[in-house]
Amino acid sequence: MSAAARSKSASADPDASARIDPGSTPGDEGHVHDVLIVGGGPSGSSCAYWLAEAGWDVALVEKKEFPRAKTCGDGLTPRSVRQIADMGMEGSLVGAHRYSGLRAHAFGKVLDLPWPEHPSFPSYGYVVTRHDLDAVVNERAAKAGATVWQGTEALEPILDATVPTPDGAGLPSCVGAVVKDKSTGQVREVRARYVVVADGANSRFGRALGTSRDRSQPMGMALRGYYSSPGHDQPFIESHLDIRDGDGNVVPGYGWIFPLGDGRVNVGVGLLSTDRRWKGVNTGTLMEHFVAWAPKEWELSPLTALGPATGGKLPMGLTVGPRIGATTLVVGDAAGTINPFNGEGIAYGYETGRLAAASLGEALSGDGFDAIVRYEARLDDAYGLYYKVARAFIRVISRPELMKLCVGTGMYSETLMVWVLRIMSNTIRPDEIGPAEAAYRALAAIARLVPEPA
Ligand SMILES: Cc1cc2nc3c(=O)[nH]c(=O)nc-3n(C[C@H](O)[C@H](O)[C@H](O)COP(=O)(O)OP(=O)(O)OC[C@H]3O[C@@H](n4cnc5c(N)ncnc54)[C@H](O)[C@@H]3O)c2cc1C
Repeated sequence: MSAAARSKSASADPDASARIDPGSTPGDEGHVHDVLIVGGGPSGSSCAYWLAEAGWDVALVEKKEFPRAKTCGDGLTPRSVRQIADMGMEGSLVGAHRYSGLRAHAFGKVLDLPWPEHPSFPSYGYVVTRHDLDAVVNERAAKAGATVWQGTEALEPILDATVPTPDGAGLPSCVGAVVKDKSTGQVREVRARYVVVADGANSRFGRALGTSRDRSQPMGMALRGYYSSPGHDQPFIESHLDIRDGDGNVVPGYGWIFPLGDGRVNVGVGLLSTDRRWKGVNTGTLMEHFVAWAPKEWELSPLTALGPATGGKLPMGLTVGPRIGATTLVVGDAAGTINPFNGEGIAYGYETGRLAAASLGEALSGDGFDAIVRYEARLDDAYGLYYKVARAFIRVISRPELMKLCVGTGMYSETLMVWVLRIMSNTIRPDEIGPAEAAYRALAAIARLVPEPA
């Protein structure tokens, strides 16, 4: 902790001196950090960056060594670019493939949809591998002052039954983790006043604390692989909104081709598990069909594949909880923060890491659990209604006849699809009421009134 932050919390929180050994430094046995973060993906590294930048003593454990591969479409939307720029890192993306919009394909029609102008977001995105991106963001957090232990896995939470569980705290009080250095096998304890769970979609650490996904709500499954392609430097990313299963039936999901600008494209399929009908669909088969069926100019085939496809879960719509305990917050995929409209999760990882850091700064400065509760309020302000609209939308498109009607109708109007892109990418303008904003407000007014499945 910097002197400024230490004096801030020492004066505001009378308990602080009892819990911090002022003589110890990060790495010392017995040292108590202000915050321990489990996981160094977008959500964990952003949280570490914002806390370290504010002067707090933050430690982060990441079980892999950077740079490490992470299964992803590698697509950064303008929302992600904004967060990267706010962390002072857009310069690190020089050389990454910058793109200017989305090419939507469906039912034989093609529309080019440039990213719209927006007061808070740029009108471009990037496609960059998570191998490269996550290493840079994690390094940024370390440079800001976070203590980062790579190749270190959090094996289990350390609980403290002596910390009372306040009303509204769904998770037990966690005051650190038993961690294992994977290269030496050494097991030790890392202790902290607050713990942030940022361990991704599978979230074993979160589940050990008691988080679970609301199974009445949809989840996504996605698979991606890299291909060499002459289209590697196309200025648009491409989405196919009418992907089909082996029997030719349209399924609720989409296929994508995202150009990386280095000879490769990232190709994938995502599927919504909205109801029982889609549980039996094999994403591997879906991917094979998509590759065979994609426009020929991409030259996708088993011969241009650069390795096997890998897949993962997309927990979405804030459907994982509880997200707070007396001393614990859950962020990113571990909290199910992916946008259900488009499967985007990187921006929401950065954003929720940042929201958690803001609440933790207030908690450490003396507000305690009141500030942790504010994290939930901040999530609700930022995404509550929007995700409710999104969850309603995906219940609709999981019915093939309605999906065909919605997408088929939309594809007849470029203007309509520009509004749809704005709603689905969560880049609705707060400063004006254009058709997209008006359409969203109408949908939101309906969503507010519609009860969700129990
Ligand atoms: C196939 C696929 C395609 C996708 N495409 C896109 C896309 O194009 N654009 C987009 O915005 N989003 C995309 N997403 C979603 C996106 O990948 C996630 O939303 C995002 O990675 C969430 O970030 P996170 O930090 O919460 O979790 P993660 O990125 O999963 O990071 C969690 C980190 O925690 C570490 N960890 C886990 N357990 C432990 C432990 N016990 N101890 C220490 N470390 C641990 C992991 O090694 C990992 O580094 C895609 C997802 C999938 C599966």
